[in-house]
Amino acid sequence: MKNVLITGGTSGIGLGIARAFAAKGYNLLLNGLEPNGPEIAKELAAEHSVKVLHSPANLMKPEQIREMVSLAEQELGQVDILVNNAGIQYVAPVDEFPEDKWDAIISVNMSASFHAAKAVWPGMKSRGFGRIINIASAHALRASEYKIAYVTAKHGIAGLTKVLALEGAPHNITCNAICPGYVRTPLVEAQIADQAKAHQMSESEVIEKVMLKKQAVKQFVTIDAIANLALYLATDTASQLTGAMLPIDGGWSAQ
Ligand code: NAD
Repeated sequence: MKNVLITGGTSGIGLGIARAFAAKGYNLLLNGLEPNGPEIAKELAAEHSVKVLHSPANLMKPEQIREMVSLAEQELGQVDILVNNAGIQYVAPVDEFPEDKWDAIISVNMSASFHAAKAVWPGMKSRGFGRIINIASAHALRASEYKIAYVTAKHGIAGLTKVLALEGAPHNITCNAICPGYVRTPLVEAQIADQAKAHQMSESEVIEKVMLKKQAVKQFVTIDAIANLALYLATDTASQLTGAMLPIDGGWSAQ
C-alpha cells in the first residue's frame, strides 16, 4: 500500500484527510504541532491496521521539513503522496498587519510546500509515481480584505502547483490544489472572533455577512468533501488531472 505524508495532519482538514486515507489502507506520516499528535497517530494506526508516524517538525524550518521527509522514507520506505495542508491565518488591515505574521504565513502556507515538494521529488521521480496535493483555498483564486499575507501565500501556491505539474508530467508526478471555501475547523473558529473585531460585528453576523456571503451554497464546506477529492487525486486513474486549481467553495469562485 502507498504512503502519504500530510502536513498539519493532526487537526481540522488535515486530520480528516488522514482518517480517509487510513480507512483506505494507506500508511501515513502525520505532521502537526498539536501536543496529542503521537496519540492521534497511535489511535489511527490501531483503528485501521496501518502504519502511522507522527512528526512535530516546524514547517518554518526547512531543515526540519527535510528531516521529516527522511523519517518517512526510512520508516515507511518512501513517500508516494504529499499533502501540503498545514496553514495559519492572521486577520488585520494592511497598515496594522504585523511583519512577523506576514513572514510566518508566507513561510508555513507557501514556502513549506516548496521545501516539502523538493524533498520528496527525487524519490517520486525515480519511481515514476507521485501525487502532490496542496490544500490551498478559495483565497488562491479570490481576495478578501484584511488577509494580505494569507491571500498572497495562497496565490503563490497556485503558481507552485502549476510549475510542479509541468515539471512532474514526464515522471507521472501530478500536482493539484484543492481550493475550499469556509470549513468549520479550529482555524476558522479563531477567525470568526478576529473578523468580528476587524469588521466590528457580532460573531453570528461575521458568519452570515462576511464568510458565507461569498458562497452561493450557504453552508460550511465539509471536511469529507475535501478528503474524498484528495483520495481521488491520489489514484492511478487521476494521472491526467494535473496543474488544476479545484474549488469546493459552494460556488464562491463562480462569481
Ligand atoms: P487547523 O488550524 O485546524 O490545522 C492547521 C494544522 O497546521 C495544525 O495541525 C497545525 O499544527 C499545523 N501547523 C500550523 N503551523 C505549523 C507549523 N509551523 N509547523 C507544522 N505544522 C503547523 O486548520 P484547517 O482549517 O484544518 O486548515 C488546513 C488547511 O486548509 C490550511 O492550509 C488552510 O489555509 C486551508 N483552508 C482552510 C479553510 C477553512 O475554512 N478552515 C478554508 C480554505 C483553506
